Amino acid sequence: MATMITDECINCGACEPECPNAAIYQGGIEWEALDGTKHPPLSNDFFYIVPEKCTECVGFYDHEACAAVCPVDCCIPDPERPETEDALAVRAKEIHPEKEFPVELPSRFRKAASAPAAAPQASGAAPLAPTAGATMVAAPLRMARFGKVERKIEPLATPARRSGPSVDELPIDFEEALQIVQAGAPIGAGSRLVRLAVCLAQPLLGALPAAAKAKLEEAMGDRRIFSASGSTGFNIMLHVLLFPLLAMAFAVLAEGDSIYTRGLTNWFFLGMSISIAECVWRLREAVIRARPLSEVVWRGSIYGYALLPLALPLASRAGAARRMGEVGAEGFYGKETSFDEKRERERRYGEIYSLEERPDGWIFRLELPRQIPPSGVKDQLGVGGAMPDYDLTTRVLPGGLQVHGRVVDERLRTIAASAPAFPADFTTEVPLRERPLGYVQRYGNKLLEVVVLKVSAVEKLPRTANAA
Ligand code: SF4
Ligand code: SF4
Repeated sequence: MATMITDECINCGACEPECPNAAIYQGGIEWEALDGTKHPPLSNDFFYIVPEKCTECVGFYDHEACAAVCPVDCCIPDPERPETEDALAVRAKEIHPEKEFPVELPSRFRKAASAPAAAPQASGAAPLAPTAGATMVAAPLRMARFGKVERKIEPLATPARRSGPSVDELPIDFEEALQIVQAGAPIGAGSRLVRLAVCLAQPLLGALPAAAKAKLEEAMGDRRIFSASGSTGFNIMLHVLLFPLLAMAFAVLAEGDSIYTRGLTNWFFLGMSISIAECVWRLREAVIRARPLSEVVWRGSIYGYALLPLALPLASRAGAARRMGEVGAEGFYGKETSFDEKRERERRYGEIYSLEERPDGWIFRLELPRQIPPSGVKDQLGVGGAMPDYDLTTRVLPGGLQVHGRVVDERLRTIAASAPAFPADFTTEVPLRERPLGYVQRYGNKLLEVVVLKVSAVEKLPRTANAA
């Protein structure tokens, strides 16, 4: 089925830039076919999807990207347009003839294919016990083979090391391990200042070459603070102001013009023309070729290369703390009283987590969903409002930490198979920069906490743990 947008759309526009096929258009805007011909809009009131261009994200993701970001979950499979995975794969290749697709295309159909097979295993699974002592009880946190990934996962920083054996759960109390790790000051606390500096310096940093901006964006890990596209926009605005001023200053200082002469106007327009020409050159994919934003190269300015020695150290320092501060450790019964729908959806993808690094280890916290998302079949299936605990599997590998969450209840897996933005499984991967020694974990109030100890902490372990 192609994906469609229902009349519940609130026209927020979040889905449009996510589509790899540029299949989503604002209501009232005509759409463009692959041959370049224009067609009347399919909706005048809401964003709409052109079925001929939608591949349900086959070829790009294992989920529908528009559904994943929609705040009101109104991007749904169109029951009038059933389509096979093969047909969608052919369409993806037609739309992107220049792209080299892998043999096994990313596809949401893997979700549908694997869900029923996984169900019998789930029936006997027990969720984690919500107690602090759950760390030592290994049974609920089974080490199982990982299930499918419902959302694109960033690869670990050191993929070559991922094949190493996983690190063991340590035979020590969670609180003890937490104390060992918390004894040292957080690494990268100072980088919060760096992050603020990067945020404020966006108009200047936008001049960096595209690759450097991408690296900085990745290091910051939060596009609200720094993004390649945003900083490029700020930099272009800066140039629109700066270039005319510089041209006029040149006229006054070098040419000896008076600031009261009309000739200065010509210098103003010269500066303005240069800034506009530079903007067109930098954003030529969007301005000249009308390509979607996802295909625009966020080029820098000529002097951007001179800023590289400043930007690259910033990227490494900002990256040290990029995963910090996302989660309130209070968990479910914290100060947050209002229900945040968008955050809840991100919890279902395992995206609300924090990683805090200290000299002797890391503290990882992951929030799990609290509510069952809206669905037309909820009443039919007799499920309530509160989300049952997920079946969680934690693995600590030499290159990083992985947590796999799995919806156990078969009725919920049925809902997940049809509801958008509700994967029945998720995998969260977080890179660790040093070799871990072992880990302990606990779960309670929809919050999973994992303390991973570094090799340097071995001296600080209680004797019993060392003996084991
Ligand atoms: S499902 Fe994917 S290809 Fe289809 S409209 Fe949504 S984002 Fe675009
Ligand atoms: S994300 Fe959802 S609500 Fe926002 S424009 Fe797209 S379909 Fe409409």
